[in-house]
Amino acid sequence: MVEAGVELICGCMFSGKTTRLLQRVAELQAAGLRVSSFKHALDDRYSATAIVSHAGASLPAIPIRTPGELFNYVEASDVLVVDEIHFFGADFLATCHRLIQQGRYVIAAGLDRDMWGDEFPHVRALMSMAHTLVMQGVCAVCGLPANRTHRKVPLLNNDLVGGPDEFEARCEEHFRPPTAPKPEHIMGLA
Ligand code: ADP
Ligand code: MG
Repeated sequence: MVEAGVELICGCMFSGKTTRLLQRVAELQAAGLRVSSFKHALDDRYSATAIVSHAGASLPAIPIRTPGELFNYVEASDVLVVDEIHFFGADFLATCHRLIQQGRYVIAAGLDRDMWGDEFPHVRALMSMAHTLVMQGVCAVCGLPANRTHRKVPLLNNDLVGGPDEFEARCEEHFRPPTAPKPEHIMGLA
């Protein structure tokens, strides 16, 4: 058994969040803890049933659409690992509180800001209740530390999911938000 709590790994795209998450899973499994891993079903960029880093490391994961689905796995898990938490809304916070009450440890990874540069409110709120690690990328323009996800190509059909063809890490100075307005359903993520 592990002490209840939440660990958050956040930052921009390509900052090493998933790489660090996979390291943490390996460490916890080596310590004998029962780890169950999850990802949002929306993110099927590299695989629908695995957490995959941009560098190619992977871990089998259960795709979920709502945070409440995590409760189906509580009995079998000491640690619940969730990648891409920016795709979940405020429900994710409430779920974390309940999982803590049930004595579980949650490790969550995801973007802290969207491609318009705005914080995801539920990720921001999680920062204050979690052991938080903020990762930094490398700015694709100048090479300095990056904390923004820059959209390289126009947004089509409000499809927000993408990889290296659509996004790159940039510092605040070189970041530019998309000219397209933010879709309503993203604003509603709060
Ligand atoms: P995150 O989960 O934060 O998006 P990952 O942990 O999946 O990041 O991947 C980070 C790694 O991705 C970096 O260490 C680097 O090896 C690689 N990487 C960085 N920039 C790019 C890029 N533009 N395209 C593909 N891979 C990249
Ligand atoms: Mg990732």
